[in-house]
Amino acid sequence: MAGVSFRNITKVFGKDVKAVNNLNLEIKDGEFMVLVGPSGCGKTTALRMIAGLEESTDGDLMIGETRVNDVPPKDRDIAMVFQNYALYPHMTVYENISFGLRLRELGGLFWQLTHAAEAKKVKESIDARVQEAAKMLSIEHLLQRRPKELSGGQRQRVALGRAIVRKPKVFLMDEPLSNLDAKLRIQTRAELVKLHRQLNVTTIYVTHDQVEAMTMGQRIAVMKDGLLQQCDTAEKVYNEPANMFVAGFIGSPPMNFMDAKVENTAGKFMVNCDDFSLPLKPGHAAEKLVGQAVKLGIRPEAIFDAAMNNPIPTTPENTITAEVDVLEPLGHQYIAYLKVGDHSFLASLDAGTKIQIGTNAKFALNLDSLHIFHPETGEAIR
Ligand code: ATP
Repeated sequence: MAGVSFRNITKVFGKDVKAVNNLNLEIKDGEFMVLVGPSGCGKTTALRMIAGLEESTDGDLMIGETRVNDVPPKDRDIAMVFQNYALYPHMTVYENISFGLRLRELGGLFWQLTHAAEAKKVKESIDARVQEAAKMLSIEHLLQRRPKELSGGQRQRVALGRAIVRKPKVFLMDEPLSNLDAKLRIQTRAELVKLHRQLNVTTIYVTHDQVEAMTMGQRIAVMKDGLLQQCDTAEKVYNEPANMFVAGFIGSPPMNFMDAKVENTAGKFMVNCDDFSLPLKPGHAAEKLVGQAVKLGIRPEAIFDAAMNNPIPTTPENTITAEVDVLEPLGHQYIAYLKVGDHSFLASLDAGTKIQIGTNAKFALNLDSLHIFHPETGEAIR
């Protein structure tokens, strides 16, 4: 087992496509790290560089204590699971899973004939590993089938099995769940997390799906335009986003952003959006920005129907009146599109809400989770 480190890694395609820009990221030994970001942010390129399928333009890539920039892919001791599982259609599940091992560990037919006893031992060891992996993945009963006789979820397990039997130092996974339907995806992501706990192998997982990232990663590295935006636990990335991009990308529905100004009203520091004004938490770093423009961020789940029993009290300071524009029922909650003057924003409300479309209602905001950002750089101010 080994950790993986990107040290000032840059990858330029052609003359000027900077797919990965000076990436510094330490993935710990045994960690489950998720690289997440929108399409084109460089996450697959970063993964392919670890595999050795892409050469870095600059920087040092380490697996454990070894600089692997010049180590060929086959000698890096990693296993990769792709979005399309790339199973051999003419081979059975057993043969698919054992193929790589047979290629690596068994000599050719001549060797097998001349080293019969040794070959028998190797075959037995390969068989034991295939059976062990099949048991772990609950596909023992499928070993004699061919890929076309399997469901998408089962094929995905076979691809995982093929990676597991290698007992690699590092697992790389590139959107391995995206071919599965929504229900199977949820089930399989929990299974992958469990599998990681069992195997404890360093795993680097690429996805564009922030829910997958939040639920699976011990840490999440959020990327945009080849640049690492933030790397931390799901909780930290959600509660303390480093900038507006991370704040808007992580969380669903996304965070509401408004233009605002910091004011000192009779000794009280407020953030004023014209249509309403909210007090800053005492000691907030934005207190130093009186008179300056900022961006205010409020998560939809920090907005409550003031007429209900909420986890936060309703006070004159935290309550606003808004018009209910649209209500989308989701069963366990409603997504409400609210309007205050020129401002429109989303609220995730408890399903018990009695608010009506086209009417005005009072909403209580959780003042502890207001986010303030620099209006130009987008950096968080806290
Ligand atoms: P997706 O989720 O769509 O797969 P991604 O975040 O994995 O996106 P990459 O595939 O790493 O992004 O691509 C990063 C950037 O590098 C993109 O602008 C892409 O167009 C460019 N790129 C990727 N591969 C090549 C290539 N072989 N030649 C030229 N440009 C490339």
